Amino acid sequence: MTDFNWCHGPQCHEKHTVDRVRGVKGSKVLRTRKIKLNRWNNEHSQWGFFCSTHCQNDFWKTYATQIVAIAPRTECLETPIEDPKKTRHENSYGYGWNAWDIKVDETRQT
Ligand SMILES: [Zn+2]
Repeated sequence: MTDFNWCHGPQCHEKHTVDRVRGVKGSKVLRTRKIKLNRWNNEHSQWGFFCSTHCQNDFWKTYATQIVAIAPRTECLETPIEDPKKTRHENSYGYGWNAWDIKVDETRQT
């Protein structure tokens, strides 16, 4: 069990940032970022696998078809709701606005 992951962004090692520069003078490289795992970024969070939103997006662009094949959505899902009601809201400064209140209909939950 390691305490780090390499960023899974397929182009992480091609991004021009100083923190990715490694190696000795004359043979420098841009290296994939290492992600130190802690209680906030671990195997339950995308930030245990990606150093940035950019790298996560690159991963999606490259592997989207394969990712969704893990849990394909072949039909829509529905959540039963009560008929929406338009209600007037007002904050303590006297500013008012209308909003649609949408409530889940627990009696029709499957
Ligand atoms: Zn990265």
